[in-house]
Amino acid sequence: MPVEAADARIVEDLDDEQREAVLAARGPVCVLAGAGTGKTRTITRRIAHLVAAGHVAPGQVLAVTFTSRAAGEMRGRLRALDAASGDVGTSSVQAMTFHAAARRQLAYFWPRVVGDTGWQLLDTKFSVVAQAANRAGMSTSTDDVRDLAGEIEWAKASLITPEAYPGAVAQVGRDIPFDAAKVATVYEGYENLKSRGDTALLDFDDLLLHTAGAIENDAAVAQEFRDRYRCFVVDEYQDVTPLQQRVLDAWLGDRDDLTVVGDANQTIYSFTGATPRYLLDFSRRFPDAAVVRLERDYRSTPQVVSLANRVIAAARGRMAGSRLHLVGQRDAGPAPTFAEHPDEVAEATAVAKSIKRLIEAGTAPAEIAVLYRINAQSEIYEEALTEAGIPFQVRGGEGFFSRQEVRQSLVALQRAADRDIEGALPDVVRAVLEPLGLTAEAPAGTKARERWEALTALAELVDEEVAQRPELDLRAVVAELRQRADARHPPVVQGVTLASLHAAKGLEWDAVFLVGLADGTLPISHALAHGPDSEPVEEERRLLYVGVTRARVHLALSWALARTPGGRQGRRPSRFLNGIAPQSSNDTTPARPKRQRGATPRCRVCNKALTTPASIMLRRCEDCPSNVDEDLLARLKDWRLRMSKEMSVPAYVVFTDNTLIAIAETSPADDAALVAIPGIGARKLEQFGPDVLALVKGRQSS
Ligand code: ATP
Ligand code: MG
Repeated sequence: MPVEAADARIVEDLDDEQREAVLAARGPVCVLAGAGTGKTRTITRRIAHLVAAGHVAPGQVLAVTFTSRAAGEMRGRLRALDAASGDVGTSSVQAMTFHAAARRQLAYFWPRVVGDTGWQLLDTKFSVVAQAANRAGMSTSTDDVRDLAGEIEWAKASLITPEAYPGAVAQVGRDIPFDAAKVATVYEGYENLKSRGDTALLDFDDLLLHTAGAIENDAAVAQEFRDRYRCFVVDEYQDVTPLQQRVLDAWLGDRDDLTVVGDANQTIYSFTGATPRYLLDFSRRFPDAAVVRLERDYRSTPQVVSLANRVIAAARGRMAGSRLHLVGQRDAGPAPTFAEHPDEVAEATAVAKSIKRLIEAGTAPAEIAVLYRINAQSEIYEEALTEAGIPFQVRGGEGFFSRQEVRQSLVALQRAADRDIEGALPDVVRAVLEPLGLTAEAPAGTKARERWEALTALAELVDEEVAQRPELDLRAVVAELRQRADARHPPVVQGVTLASLHAAKGLEWDAVFLVGLADGTLPISHALAHGPDSEPVEEERRLLYVGVTRARVHLALSWALARTPGGRQGRRPSRFLNGIAPQSSNDTTPARPKRQRGATPRCRVCNKALTTPASIMLRRCEDCPSNVDEDLLARLKDWRLRMSKEMSVPAYVVFTDNTLIAIAETSPADDAALVAIPGIGARKLEQFGPDVLALVKGRQSS
């Protein structure tokens, strides 16, 4: 196919600005644009254009991204383009992660640069860091070693030496659970240990450091490398680290055939050392660069786009300065929904139900995602989806039951069961899990906190199990947990995606559920510890923006007022939703989804829209006259007391006060009327329905 024809195909379905970036003369190009505007599409097309126009041979293009999934996506798009344009020949373009590229280059250049000493990749630095920590007289607990490893990674990615580490930590106000000078000692010891033997041990960051070093320090290596690669492309450039930038600089030398695309408002990896400053300073470094801004959002409906604009409009700081107002290009779709739930179990159950409806209406499970802030949140959704018979896969973290601490806990619980320890199950379980990290308060340190979250989720799973089936002993509960773990195991590729917001970057789905949007979870509490206007809180806001912009059509945002059923409903929706989550409009009021399908919940006394959780529970304004049947209420309370004693659970696990009041006010006559009361779901109906209906009818239940 002649060049013009191939090129015409390459740009035919692009808009003017995208085309401008694709067809820009060879040299530096920077695409600064918001989510869904076609940045990834634009760079793949630019590669195809440069190849089709004969500016560069396909094998001379190096396209780098940050995850192997994104690299695979890029290769896929290039192949598809080849097929559509009569084989431009882009299939030999190298699309890979920084690490993969460096590893390959190092393997090639190492013998020339270093000589006989071999090297070996250190897949996990854990044991070497533990050794260094031990020598420095520091704790070698799993969590501490993992956190130390995280600090070493941050320092190396930021090009900070052991000597400079304490000063750098103080300068950026980095939140670390150790004495900085001690970390520096461990960091130095770690580096020494790695290079002691006959074979050098290289960690992932060393791959990059040595690659840059080989090119920087050896003219012949630089020459050979630069003959090999002539054109560079970087996607998601806002998340480049100083170390990766150094490698990129080494690759480029004094050339400038570099195309970068990114969105500073999607910077979500600052804590690992990533920084948008190279993206934002691109045209300062390359004054001749073609800079293109894209505003049209092709991914999402105008409804989703409008919400995204509102979320990011409140952002502050340098990155916010680069934001553009997105203009949705797709046809109108459903308005994003907001739902408030009494607890996380209710939230997950409602989400599973909505997913079921979407699937029944024709959406493929693989086109649906549930996104959350931290990986420990996956458990409750794994549970709810399993129960609803919906296939799923957990991305960017292991499934709950594969987590190391959860596996350890099951072993410990099994041992405790074998010893027949006395006591109420929830207490026994907490006592067993305490040495594994289930302290009363959430601990400091990222890894310790993640572990704590997972253990808390496990303990609560047991509480729930016990509340449902009080007859179970520890042995039976462990067996039940193991069964659940096994039931979830079969990996499904075509299932609903469960992923953290971090792992969702660059991806898109028809339907997205953003869950757990309570203040303290998003923004996460340790970000808030830096102050409400701090950069860590801004990064949390950008996470929400990334989440919102993953949705093509359906977007549902939700949060729960309490962690566990019957728990204190002290939570509030994320501060990022202030003024965004509607308080009382007909289609999208914060309400339980059960009543959301119909109209806004209204007071059954004065018919005003209900907004507070307590009023929704009561189904009337809190100050509207109550027609509670006091006699019935007293009987319900007696009954609840008996039940809670029988089941050895707190009374609220049976029913909360508000639920009892709602029953005493509405005197439900049948199952349908019972489940219409907030706080009564299928499980409680099955468990307590007959008793409650009998009480309402005035008979004493047995
Ligand atoms: P993110 O910031 O989330 O990485 P992005 O800017 O990289 O987003 P893409 O993933 O390239 O955006 O594009 C978003 C969606 O819009 C994709 O499904 C893509 O195929 C589609 N798209 C992009 N440009 C156009 C266009 N000109 N016409 C039609 N669809 C387009
Ligand atoms: Mg992209």
